Amino acid sequence: MQDANCIFCRIAAGQIPATLIHEDDHCIAFRDLSPQAPTHLLVVPREHVVSLADVTAWPLGSTLLAACASVARAEGLVEGGYRVVTNVGRDGGQSVFHLHFHVLGGRPMAWPPG
Ligand code: 5GP
Ligand code: ZN
Repeated sequence: MQDANCIFCRIAAGQIPATLIHEDDHCIAFRDLSPQAPTHLLVVPREHVVSLADVTAWPLGSTLLAACASVARAEGLVEGGYRVVTNVGRDGGQSVFHLHFHVLGGRPMAWPPG
């Protein structure tokens, strides 16, 4: 674990329970504790990276996006469509400072976001 105070590092290390739906060498995906849609998943790198603004190894970005597409397909979201979001910093509304992609589906989404 890279940051013992980070909740997503602790989930990745198995120290905090979460409903895992995918895991591999690079990332995990689990259900959001406070779902904002019928399906709301978080795709999280095992490595502690604060946000998209801190990604320097772009293969990691590709891996995470591929995992988003894969879990969305596995959850049956492709036909109806879905949304992938990553919040960055204060104005982005980020509340957990370990990079994560939200995968939301199962209902129509509004635009623009609030
Ligand atoms: P952010 O606001 O940083 O974009 O998203 C953080 C997300 O993490 C929120 O949707 C919040 O509900 C979720 N979250 C925060 N703590 C936990 C937790 O301990 N377990 C799970 N499964 N989700 C969490
Ligand atoms: Zn972390």
